[in-house]
Parts: sequence; C-alpha cells; structure tokens
Amino acid sequence: MKALITGIVGQDGTHLSELLLAKGYEVFGVENGQRNERAARFREKFPEVKLLMGDLADYSSLQKILHEVEPDEIYNLGAISFVGLSFKQPELTANVTGLGTLRLLEAIRQKSDSNIKFYQASSSEMFGKVRMVPQNEFTPFHPRSPYGVAKTFAHYTTVNYREAYGIHASCGILFNHEGEHRGHEFVTRKISSSVARIALGLQKTFTLGSLEPKRDWGYAGDFVQAMWLMLQQDLPDDFVISTGISHSVKDFVEIALEVAGLPVELDRFVVHDPNLIRPSEVDLLVGDSSKANEILGWKPKTSFRKLVELMVENDLKIEKQRG
Ligand code: NAP
Repeated sequence: MKALITGIVGQDGTHLSELLLAKGYEVFGVENGQRNERAARFREKFPEVKLLMGDLADYSSLQKILHEVEPDEIYNLGAISFVGLSFKQPELTANVTGLGTLRLLEAIRQKSDSNIKFYQASSSEMFGKVRMVPQNEFTPFHPRSPYGVAKTFAHYTTVNYREAYGIHASCGILFNHEGEHRGHEFVTRKISSSVARIALGLQKTFTLGSLEPKRDWGYAGDFVQAMWLMLQQDLPDDFVISTGISHSVKDFVEIALEVAGLPVELDRFVVHDPNLIRPSEVDLLVGDSSKANEILGWKPKTSFRKLVELMVENDLKIEKQRG
C-alpha cells in the first residue's frame, strides 16, 4: 500500500509516518519550501520515506506527484495551521489551507483511473462561536478566524467532491492534539519548553496571552490512528475526534510546573502579554466523538495529565542535551 502525506514534516505527519511505516506502507510525503529545516530533520529520522517537492498552492506540482506516486491513500495534513498567523496572513491561509485542498481533490478527480482514498484534516476551529456543547458532526459551523474559515471551505469542498464525484473522501474534525512533535509557535509547546528551561535555570519567566481559554486537548499519537481508521472503512464519512474533556491554559501551566518540580506559582513565572490575545476567540470547544467510537472503534488512550507529562519530560530531555 502506498500513502502520500501532505504536511508530512509537521506534528501529525511525523506521528502518521511512524504509524504507516509500522503497518508496512510505502510512505511518500510532500515537502515544500526552498530551505526546509524540518524536512532535513524528518529525512534523518525517516530515511525510508520518500519526500517530493510540491506545494498546496501549486496545482501542477500536486498533479505531477500524484502521477509519480500513484498512491492508494492521501492524507491532506498540509496547511497554514497556526490560528495566530492566519489573522496576520489571511490570504495566504485561504490559499494554502482552503484552496490547497480543492487543488488536491481536483488533481485526484482529473486522475480518473484511480481509486485513491482521501483524508482531510478538518478542525474543531470550524465550530468557533459554538452553537452547542459538546460539538458533534451535526453542530453548525461558525468559524472565528481566517484559519477556521479556510478549514470550513476545505471541509465542504471535500464533502462536495465525495457527493459529486464519488471520491472516497473523509474528514476528521479533530480537536486540539499535542505531543512531543508540536511546533514551538503553539501555546502547549511554548508552555512545556519554557517550563523545562525554567526548571533547568535557563530562563526565569515566559509570556502568555489569556490563561482562561479552554480546549479539548488530546495526544497526537492517538489521533492519527483515527485518520488511518477512516480510510479503512468501506464508506467515506466525517468524524469528530476528541477526548470530550476540556482544560484551560491555566490547567496546562499548573500541571507542567508540577511535573517539572517547580512551585505552582503562576504569578512568578507567567508574564501576561495582551498582544498574544486573538482578535476573536472561540468559545468552549468540547468534542463528542461517540460516532468515531461506534463506527471506527476509536477512543483516546492518553489522559490530559499524561500528555502534559510527556511534553514536559520530552522538553527537559531536549534542553539537557542542548546544555
Ligand atoms: P503542523 O505541524 O503545522 O503541520 C502543517 C504542515 O503543513 C507543515 O509540515 C507545513 O510544512 C505544511 N505546509 C505549510 N504550507 C504548505 C504548503 N503551501 N504546501 C504544502 N504543505 C504546507 O500541523 P499539525 O499539527 O501536524 O496538523 C496537521 C493538520 O491537521 C493541519 O492541516 C492542521 O491544520 C490540522 N489540525 C491540527 C490540529 C492540531 O491540534 N494539531 C487540530 C485540528 C486540525 P512546513 O512547516 O515545512 O512549511
């Protein structure tokens, strides 16, 4: 079996590559950018994965890759994925995260000889100003960021290509998931790496926006299992993937300090920076993944505390190696 992953050098691409290689897949990935340091690190970690140059903003590159690889499964994880950046570069976000999905689906459709199964990385950010708590597959979308808007376009485009052209295309509406491969621009990684550095005496404080936002945080290693399971079904469909429990940023910081053996004194370590607050925040995001549980047999395995432990311990190890 051949799998092609866009966004392969990102967090989920790394976990998914591990999973698919362990299952005996031949794994191919799309590498973008001229001097991609993450791609260089990825190549070292996974020499057996073949990386091909391409870009979700460039239709001809996607078409060429599809013809070269002839994949059985495509996981579309590539995106401008950081909500904060999407407010600063909304047009780029719409082009890559939104239109990029359309380009890839169109390349699949044009390749009429194929039976490619397609996974779209949809997001709980599409629920935004939520209409019901918890959110499930029937909850209306009301995105609150250019990222959420672009993901909503990509989601409905995927549904449309499934219905109009019969493509085996499924969307995973994933709630926040984190882990040791999380990018440093995301709040959880910022907390785990800052707390690790404070514990090792490398810095004294770190900045955060609001401590109040709550998220339904799971472990990326658990969530990529659900992506794979979706493409093993006879029929394509959409699934909410979440833990069903929400925690605040404050909860995350408190456990991180505890794990690192520091006093749980937020005023001492966290400096409030109003510039880090989003122009419009999402409301209480909590997912109901009972459909995924019933149909895919999926449920999360890693608790919130375990996730924070894993991230802080990983960053302590990295910082010690550096020092
Ligand atoms: P990530 O670590 O930021 O990875 C995103 C990947 O997209 C990166 O490898 C990036 O490559 C690539 N990319 C950016 N621009 C591209 C372009 N023009 N063409 C091709 N690739 C491009 O994100 P993640 O956490 O693994 O998430 C995977 C997917 O799930 C994303 O679509 C994300 O929006 C979605 N999602 C994530 C979460 C979550 O909590 N993690 C929740 C819901 C949905 P470079 O870095 O090399 O540019």
